[in-house]
Amino acid sequence: MPEAPEVEALTRFLRERLTGRVVRGVELTEFRALKTRARPLDEIVGRTVGSVDRYGKHIDLDADGTHLSIGFGRAGWATWSDDATASDPPANGAALIARVMFDDGVLGITDAGEWLSVQLHVVAAPGDVPAVAKLGPDAADPGFSREALVTALGRRRKQLKALLQEQESLAGIGNAYSDEILSVARLSPVAQAASLSDDEVTRLHTAVREVLDGAVAARDGIPIAEQKAAKVASMRVHGRTGEPCPDCGGTIEDIPGTKGGGQYCPSCQPLSA
Ligand SMILES: [Zn+2]
Repeated sequence: MPEAPEVEALTRFLRERLTGRVVRGVELTEFRALKTRARPLDEIVGRTVGSVDRYGKHIDLDADGTHLSIGFGRAGWATWSDDATASDPPANGAALIARVMFDDGVLGITDAGEWLSVQLHVVAAPGDVPAVAKLGPDAADPGFSREALVTALGRRRKQLKALLQEQESLAGIGNAYSDEILSVARLSPVAQAASLSDDEVTRLHTAVREVLDGAVAARDGIPIAEQKAAKVASMRVHGRTGEPCPDCGGTIEDIPGTKGGGQYCPSCQPLSA
């Protein structure tokens, strides 16, 4: 699942490649991905890309005031080919969802999941996409403050790992970076948000900044085909069940109740804390 650092890297790449370029054609291979039935994908054909921006884990491509919003969901991603006539299938067995053609290259939108999670919208403004309109403040924005985190935590009884992934509370974090942030903060993934002390909130905020700022910087400039591997290789605890904790050398375990979907260090992040 791409999270804010990978989507930010893709956004920067596309902004550099596409700004000022005319959309020459589109192909929608997977019709179910387009959620705006009354506004077809070919509305952007012939229009010039003015900007490419990230909203949480979504990308917005502004083509002369008509916006193509791409929500990557669980298994969506993108490909880029410098050959405008290329029709290569996407790598790693992913299904091709759509293609957007330019004079000097082709943007492919892909989905590697067992079920379709990519969502495309053609809209007048980014906020017309329901999932974008509901997004909380962007956790990957360097300006995401401790106060904004306090607001997101609120007096919620929700468990920390789940809350960090709740896009309506704070945008951009998914399954992997929530594990990494809680590892750096040395907080239990199942602690209730409202139970944190002031010191723990400060640690959590510092960890959000450290993990996301570090990942955004590390992912910047890496080819989009290599983003997933770079993310996986960078993980401290996520996906590292049975491996030693980088802080204490203890063994990383699956978080109880996540069916192997999340990991933590029981020594650094005691569940009863
Ligand atoms: Zn540890």
